[in-house]
Amino acid sequence: MTDAYPRKKFIAGNWKMHKTRGDVETFFQTFNRLISESGGFSQIAERYDVAFGVPATLFETCEQGVKSTGVRILAQNCHWEAQGAFTGELSVPMLKDAGVHGAIIGHSERRQYNGETNEAVGKKWQALSRGGLLPVICIGESRSEREAGKTEEVLSVQLRETLSQVSKDSLGHDFVIAYEPVWAIGTGLTATPDQAEAAHVFIRRELAELTSKACSEAVRIIYGGSMNPSNARELLGCPNIDGGLIGGASLKAEDFVRILL
Ligand code: PEP
Repeated sequence: MTDAYPRKKFIAGNWKMHKTRGDVETFFQTFNRLISESGGFSQIAERYDVAFGVPATLFETCEQGVKSTGVRILAQNCHWEAQGAFTGELSVPMLKDAGVHGAIIGHSERRQYNGETNEAVGKKWQALSRGGLLPVICIGESRSEREAGKTEEVLSVQLRETLSQVSKDSLGHDFVIAYEPVWAIGTGLTATPDQAEAAHVFIRRELAELTSKACSEAVRIIYGGSMNPSNARELLGCPNIDGGLIGGASLKAEDFVRILL
């Protein structure tokens, strides 16, 4: 790594509520074939940490699919309590028991449809860190907030309120921030590299204030919002964009592999 790119990039698919176990078997047959035809996973692993955020019904099939590649499986949510009367929820110890590596938390779809607050996201972050799993924390502004010139204010509030639930101890564990402008998710609109880089620089500066300079320099801040094989190279070439969270383009093995190669 050069000094300009001190952090290993993290590329994660987000499958949302897609795929059955049969689909997953087909996906990984193609994924593994394409990777092996292009020289094997080890050359990708030199540049990228790779993961898929998948529905809980697919954990086991995905783990079989990625066996011996080093690709990690993530959940798409978790509860902050270890156990209890929380019907429909999955705890961190349960996710650990299922063999997943971490969880995407605070995705804008969960904020929008499930009323997830910054405080809840912070509690989930804390529970994941304490449990030894990787939190991938999503933040980002809506279209109206960007148009009103409030992008930085929104990101700052999201970070502050979320971090208010996270202990100093937990900040010593690895975490990933996903900057996902809501207006770019699933819309085909992508932040320009300049817009994304500026937001990532701002987030890193805020993190330096809220945590420590060392933490802010080590943390991977990844971009999400209609990233695809045509725009990934340019976005990933920005010095503060440390990877991508990829929805639509992660559903087809061919597209996702093109992003990795
Ligand atoms: C996402 O769901 O996190 C996402 C970025 O989706 P898409 O790539 O489809 O915009």
